[in-house]
Amino acid sequence: MKRKIRTNLKGERPRKGDETMRSSEALDRRGLDNFPRIGVTAALREETESIAQNPSGRFVRTDLDYVKGVSEAGGMPVVLPPSLSLRAAEALLDGLDGLLLSGGPDLDPGYYGEEPVPELGTTIPEWDALEMALLRLALERGMPIFGICRGMQMLNVALGGTLYQDFPSQFGADVINHWQTTPKCQVAHEVEVLDDSYLAKITDRPTVEVNSYHHQGIKGLAEDLTVAARCADGVIEALESRDISDRWMVGVQWHPEGMRDLGSEHRNLFDAHVCAAERHASRRTAA
Ligand code: MN
Repeated sequence: MKRKIRTNLKGERPRKGDETMRSSEALDRRGLDNFPRIGVTAALREETESIAQNPSGRFVRTDLDYVKGVSEAGGMPVVLPPSLSLRAAEALLDGLDGLLLSGGPDLDPGYYGEEPVPELGTTIPEWDALEMALLRLALERGMPIFGICRGMQMLNVALGGTLYQDFPSQFGADVINHWQTTPKCQVAHEVEVLDDSYLAKITDRPTVEVNSYHHQGIKGLAEDLTVAARCADGVIEALESRDISDRWMVGVQWHPEGMRDLGSEHRNLFDAHVCAAERHASRRTAA
């Protein structure tokens, strides 16, 4: 006779303030067969303070705000670890409908043919290599790609563009401070969204107040990309595909995941990406 497994979950109601419910409710509204799977790249973090690891522990970590941003938009976030074989990465991407490249440390300037300058921050070769591989595979598959901060820079470099390795020393005297020391929900500066850009349709406003945590940025723009927003000092703050209907690629230099509660212009970015992933999934099914 089969024994029934007892759980204490029956009839359990969400507690007030249980934030995870907000995300799963968004998924349920779409219906279970119909939520696009969005790969979210995770970071490799080294912690020397860890008690269990000696001398240092290495952890897979991603900011919960990325995961929530995707969930609240009706997507299913799939966190991609920073250590995978290329074959495993390919197999994993086959099951996804969109890719979100998250923020993180500096990218090895070798990817755009430069030697490191002294002001370059820490780079993690293993993570650079995997994210670049994932990005190239996603581009080959025509997957909708959303790049945040480092993610936007990677998108530009993968398509042939270049970066400033360090604004304060390379951009010129007029550059404002793009490295805020306050939380992500606080505004550092404003960006001007270009009138005829796709981004303008997403944000539905000509200027957006953003946070700012970057000392690097776009120098040479890749041919397939176009500027979508700039800061008053000239720094490129968003870019997008030249032909968004052909290939959905959007990158922002700020962290919209940390400003979701401040305005729809930030949430809409996640919504637009998840919608594009849904269209991509249905085209794939039809093909
Ligand atoms: Mn900025």
